[in-house]
This record gives sequence, structure tokens and C-alpha cells, in this order.
Amino acid sequence: MTEKMWVYKFEELDAAERYVGGKWDDIRGLFGGKGANLAEMIRIGVPVPPGFTVTTEACNGYLHAGGVFPGQMWEQVLEALKGVEQKTGKKFGDATCPLLVSCRSGAKFSMPGMMDTVLNIGLNDTTAAGMVELTGDARFVYDAYRRLIQMFGSVVMGIPDEKFEEVISAARLKAGVEHDTQLSAEHWLEMTQKFKTIFRSHTQVDFPQDPVEQLHMATEAVFKSWNGKRAIDYRNAANIAHDLGTAVNVQTMVFGNMGDDCATGVAMTRHGSNGEPGLEGDFLINAQGEDVVAGIRMTEDILEMSKSFPEAFKELEQIADKLEKHYHEMQDMEFTVEKGKLWMLQTRDGKRTAQAAVRIAVDMANEGLITKQGAVTRISPEQIDFFLHPQFAPQSLELARSEGRMVARGLNVSPGAASGFVVFTADLAESWSKEDGKKVIMVRPETKPDDVHGMLAAEGVLTSRGGRTSHAALVARQFGKPAVVGVQELEIDLIRREMQVGEELIREGDVISIDGNTGEVFLGELLKMIPDIKDPWLIDLLSWADEFRTLGVWANADYPDDAARAREYGAQGIGLCRSEHMFFETERLPLFQKMIMADLAVDQRDALNELLQFQREDFAGLFRVMDGLPVIVRLIDPPLHEFLPDFVELMLELSDMKLRIRDTATLSQIDELLGQIRVKERIRERAEKLREQNPMLGMRGVRLGIHIPDLTKMQVRAIFEAACQVTREGCTVLPKIMIPLVAHANELRVQRDSLEKEARLVMEEQQIEIEYKFGTMIELPRAALTADQIAEYAEFFSYGTNDLTQTTYGISRDDAESGFLVEYVHKGILPENPFATLDADGVGQLMAIGIKKGRKVRPDLECGICGEHGGDPQSIDLCHGMGLSYVSCSPFRVPIARLAAAHAALKDKS
Ligand code: PEP
Ligand code: MG
Repeated sequence: MTEKMWVYKFEELDAAERYVGGKWDDIRGLFGGKGANLAEMIRIGVPVPPGFTVTTEACNGYLHAGGVFPGQMWEQVLEALKGVEQKTGKKFGDATCPLLVSCRSGAKFSMPGMMDTVLNIGLNDTTAAGMVELTGDARFVYDAYRRLIQMFGSVVMGIPDEKFEEVISAARLKAGVEHDTQLSAEHWLEMTQKFKTIFRSHTQVDFPQDPVEQLHMATEAVFKSWNGKRAIDYRNAANIAHDLGTAVNVQTMVFGNMGDDCATGVAMTRHGSNGEPGLEGDFLINAQGEDVVAGIRMTEDILEMSKSFPEAFKELEQIADKLEKHYHEMQDMEFTVEKGKLWMLQTRDGKRTAQAAVRIAVDMANEGLITKQGAVTRISPEQIDFFLHPQFAPQSLELARSEGRMVARGLNVSPGAASGFVVFTADLAESWSKEDGKKVIMVRPETKPDDVHGMLAAEGVLTSRGGRTSHAALVARQFGKPAVVGVQELEIDLIRREMQVGEELIREGDVISIDGNTGEVFLGELLKMIPDIKDPWLIDLLSWADEFRTLGVWANADYPDDAARAREYGAQGIGLCRSEHMFFETERLPLFQKMIMADLAVDQRDALNELLQFQREDFAGLFRVMDGLPVIVRLIDPPLHEFLPDFVELMLELSDMKLRIRDTATLSQIDELLGQIRVKERIRERAEKLREQNPMLGMRGVRLGIHIPDLTKMQVRAIFEAACQVTREGCTVLPKIMIPLVAHANELRVQRDSLEKEARLVMEEQQIEIEYKFGTMIELPRAALTADQIAEYAEFFSYGTNDLTQTTYGISRDDAESGFLVEYVHKGILPENPFATLDADGVGQLMAIGIKKGRKVRPDLECGICGEHGGDPQSIDLCHGMGLSYVSCSPFRVPIARLAAAHAALKDKS
């Protein structure tokens, strides 16, 4: 029987493929993303320092066994190490030609900086001396040695890193230098000794001199770091399963800090913030990789590398191209130049903003690297949502600039606009945001993995150090947080909790704004606006999505402006115009109240006639904007008491007025007050009459239309007069009249009869034939269950899933979302808020029954959805599956719905 492999050399990818059955996703599961990509790079001929991967299975074995390596794992590590020795011609622990290795974590999904890494393993007093001999560079060797003790001390033994950093700061101060690079060999040698003392005093043991023991302990530490707090927090935030485990990659060290012919850097194959083609990144001459990522030293732009390392830069560009062609994805690479030779240390799919993701997907499809379908599927609806995040309004930006409130500028690494109170620690960011509901901007010199919870809680992130690939930039991009980094003008004093920016002193709790698009930092708050979606790449992507989707995407809009936005965003019709919304406007509400209060039919008709003028104009505006596209106008729905003042307030006002009579001096004033009281009394009486225990289940919807037939007749007249008028202007008007809250087919029959008569009357008066349809909302369970009977009178259905969810669950939609429903979702009693995501098993089933029964009577019955769920990607998937004709959602969600509908269709196809 062949022995189980816990360890694979980088060049043993074939064996791993055989083991998992050749699937790339499973290779990543076994090797972790980093290990899988290292092996893949070797296979395609990219220069990678030799090494091997200890699998995630070994990690899980270790963790399940309570901290014991699986049988044979360690023997396999030692065997693989021998292979590396042969390849490099160096020897682990050898005094004359020592091999040094790094030991890095690498899980299936990228978790930047969340787990541990130890570099320079293999150094001890003897090998360090040997390396000095070999390289003639004692400064480099002791810098590397102290790094090993520092990393090993903090990662493996849990010594606080500050203990070591304090020693370095003191040494810099004593030597009168600003940067670590200015410290000499003697300084680092002295610090190496001091670090050993710190190590001993914290752990009661000496720093291990045996390289094999170092590797053993480092491997264990990496395994254990899978269950560290920050790794768990990150996985929770990024939705990564907790049982995947991490692999360990042991790799020959190459050094970017052996002099000025060495460098280290990180580069994206395209720009991560806006998706532009070309390398984007940072590098540092004479430095180690961690220096770049940690943002501790001010990095140089990667393009500058073409001057200092022309050969290596050219090769890097070629490798970038090769990797993109290989992975069909934008890559985020880590590299080191050692004595002029380029080595690739890592490649992975690059993190990017939503804007960049869209541009890269479209560009790659245009370049033939991926298909249009691939471009559409790799963008998530959430990314489109980020795309539409608010930006600062141009006028507000202009004003702030002219007022001198723009105080600094940094790198615009993650777009979007954010304003909030300045906080200097992650914990405070979290508590102000979560406990006090405050909007905060987290400000740090640089961020570390321990800060992620604060970044998640903050509106935006601002740092004084770090580049485009710093931790702050990567994490902010991933979670769609606006971020500005590397603002050198910021002098942050974490002890005093304040920062100086030029003349300005900003304290914790002051309000600032950051613009992730321009990199500007402002004092105070700025106005925000929703951007137009004129981005050419987004337009292309969504037009490709349209080619794949079969569901229509319509919008819920009441006013011409909303309809225009919806149309600009790609809506193919108005699925719901809530026609009562206009009655709440200032000049109309008194008329509507007059109509409600009228005792005489003639008074009521007068009020309705006046309202008609307004409604006609409302609908005409909508029809003009939607020229050539269908517009569904839903007739009045809410209970009438909503149009009257609140009953309790009326009572209080009346008792107050009555009290005032006593203090009123003149008879005429008393008379006037009595008159006012009489009017209020009438309103109160009316409001009392209209009061219901359960108004949402009361006199509303079609019931109202039957009860006050002249009201809905007026609305239908307004619709048809407007349609005739706009048709005369040359537009194509396709009105659809929708009756709400129908429970019984007879309700619809009665309403339709009376309303269609009115419609025909108007068309005769106007001598114009309008192509129209009568239909109904299906928003009560009875309507869904008797959809065949209802379809006799309805030419279309539109599912009102807000009411349908309310009445199916028996949960009040107005109260539950701030009440017990939150607790239900929190406790897992309900998997999701059913008012946000369609309840497939209950509400979804009713919908499916309705469609089936309705289409049995009318095979071409158009069935849409206009409840809030119409803009929710998961619900859209369900709607596609049910065979709905279209979804209708808020104008802002139209682009999201277009993409989600394409995803649903593509999923279906595959
Ligand atoms: C619905 O019930 O889903 C609906 C769209 O109507 P409203 O929200 O106006 O009740
Ligand atoms: Mg409704």
C-alpha cells in the first residue's frame, strides 16, 4: 500500500492532481491557494524558489488530534527538505553553505495577513557566521537573524512584537538615524543578542539553535494560527468555512535585502482600484517582503522599477502577462530580486474594487482571455451594488475645496465617499459604530490584520503610511470600504489621540470626510449623491447580461424623474406606479381629504374632479418618459385613514382648543375658535369611523374601489385622458391598469366592468384607441390559490410579495422587521428575513401555484413581481425558476437585477 502523502514538493503537482481527481478547486483545497499557485507557476516555467507544501489535510489532522502531526508527516517534511537541498546545492544547518527557508501559511481562500509566517528559518549562531563568510555582508546576515528571532518569538512563542520593535527604535535613536537601512552590521549584531535575551526572559528557554527544531515549531505555529482569533473573525466576515485548514509552504529564502542590487515588491497585473491595464504596485530596494506589505517604509511605484532594474522589470511584465493568460484572471504577485535575479514568491487572484472588477472582466472578454459569459458570471450583484454607492456631490466637493477644507491627499485605493467621526483604534471604531450607532472613519498609521473588525465597522479607512497594496488597501477593497492610504501629511499621535495635518489639529471624535475616488481628505461632512452609471465598462457588461437573461427587468416608479432614472438604468417598463402617492403631496392632500369628508355626492365629485387634473398630469409625465414601454398603474390601495390626521393627535388638539375657549377674551374670537372646533370635530368623527383594528386587512385595495367607485373611476379617467394626450404628442403609450388586494374573482369582475366602461368612454370622447390591459396584483393567499378563477378577468398578474409575505406568514410587515423577526433571524429560527428574500417554501409555493393555475386559463398570462423581493438576487433566481415574465424593483436596483437575472439564466442553462 502506498503511503499517504502529507507533503508535496512544488514540482509534484501531477501527483496531487491524481490524488484529488484533477480538479483545480480541490488542488487549492489541498495545497491552499498559495501552494497550488506556486506549484502551477513552476509547471509553466516561472522562476520560483524551490520548496514544498504540507497539505491542509495534515493541518486538519494535527488540529483534530489535539496538536500531534499525523503519522509520517514529519518524516516526509525532512525528505522533501533533502530534495530542496539537492536543488539549491545548499544544506539546512550547514555552516559553510546554509539553506534558509520560509514557513508560510496558505489557505484555500486568501486571508491576507490573517495567519502566520516565519522567515529565515535555518539561521543560528553557526550558520549566521557561515553566511557572513559566504556573503561578506554581516549587516545583511544579522538583520536576517534578528528578524528570525523576532518573528519566531512573536509568532511561535507569543512574545509581543513591540518588545522587539522598542529595541529597534531605541537603536535608531541612539545612532541618530531615521531608517532601519541606515543601521550597521554592529547595530544588528547587538540587537540580535538583545532579541535573544528578550526571547529567554519571556519564554524561559533559549532561542532554538537547531534548524530542524525551528522548522518543526514554526510548522506547528502555522497550523495553530488557523484557529487564532483574527483568522476566525476574518473567516466569519468573509464567509469562509472554518473546517478548511491551512497548508504550510516551506520555501527557499531569497533575499531582497542583500544590497542595492536587490529589491522586493508586490504588483497587480492590472490596477486594483480602477481596473486600468498595466502593472500596479509598490517595491522597495534593499528590503524584505514584509516591509512592503506592512506599509512601514514608504514604497516606490512599481513603474520606477523599470529604471532601477530594467531587466528584472521586463521579465516581471512578461511573467504578469503569462500568468494572466494562464489563470484568465488579474493576478496579485509577490516577487524578490536577489542580486539582479527575479524570483516569484506568490501569485493569487488580485483583490479589486467593484469598478475595477467590472472593467477587468469586460477588458479580458474583449482581449479574448475569457468569454462574455465568463465576464458576466464573475461579477456578483453585490459588486454592482457597490458600484452605485454614493459619491460626494460635485458642488459639495467644489465648495469644500474653495473653503480650504481639503487638508490632505493620499492614494485613492478604494472608491466611494465616507464621512464620520475620527477614531484611532479598531476597538473604538467597532464600539462607536455598533453600540452607539455612530458613523466613523478609522484612522491609523497603517492597518494590521488585528484591525479588520474596526475596518468592517467603519464607513471608511484612512492611513498615513502604506501603498496601493498595503493591508489597508486590500482589505478595504475586498469589503467595499472607501479608503485613502499613504497620506504623508498626517502626523498621527496615537497616545494623545489626535493628528496634525498642516495647520489643522484633528482630534478623535472630530468629523472628517474621505474621497476614495480622488484620495482627498476633508474636514467636516460633505453632501453625497448617487452616481450616474455612465461607466462604459458597466454598460457593456450589463448589455451582455441582457443577452443571457430571459427574465424582464422593470422598475417600481411613481414620478417621471424616477422613471427616467429607471429607464437610464435599463428598466424595460414600469411594473408598479403606486398611484396614491401623489395624493399625499401638499396641494393634493386637502382635496383628497375634502373627497373623504364630503357628505354630499356632488361635493365628492367636485373634489374628485379637481384631483383628476393633477392625476392626469402625473400619468402624462410618466407616459412621456416611458414612451414605447409598458406602464402599470396600480389603483389606490391604502386605507383612507392614512390620508387624515392621526386620530390620537386630533383628540389632543381638540381638547387643547376647548381649554383655550376659557382664556379667549372676545366674543368674535370665541366664535372663530368654535368654528375651528366644529371643523376638527367633523374630521375626528370621520377618522373615528374609518379607524380599524387591522387596517392592513381592512378597507383598502379593491375593496376601496368597490366602496367608492367614483374614486377609481377618476383614476382610470386620468390614465386614459393622459394616454390619449401623450399619444397625440406622438408617443407610444402602453398603460396597464392594476387592481390591488383582490381575494375573490368576483371583486375583480365587478371593478373591471365598471372601470373598463369608463376607459371606453374616455377613448370615445377622445376618439383615440389605446392599447391597454387590465390585471391584478396577487398579494393574498386566496388569490394565488384561486388564480384560475381570477385569470378569467385578469390579463396580467403582478405578485405583491410584500403583502403576500405578510398574509402568508401572518406577520405585520410594518412592525416585524424592527421586532421579533430580527430575533428569529439571529437565532436561526428563520434562515432569512422573508420580507427581504422570498420564502421559497411558503410564499414561493403560492406563487408557483398561482402561475400554473393562471396560465392554465390564459397560456400567455404575463406574471411579474413588484414586491421588494424583485430586487433581491436570491429571490430573482427563484422568480426565474418559477417562469415569471419579469421582476420589478426600485430604479437603483435595476442594474443589479439585470445581472442577477443573467446569472439565474446561465445557472439554469448549465
Ligand atoms: C406588495 O404588497 O408587494 C406591493 C408591491 O404593494 P405595496 O407594497 O404597495 O402594498
Ligand atoms: Mg401590496
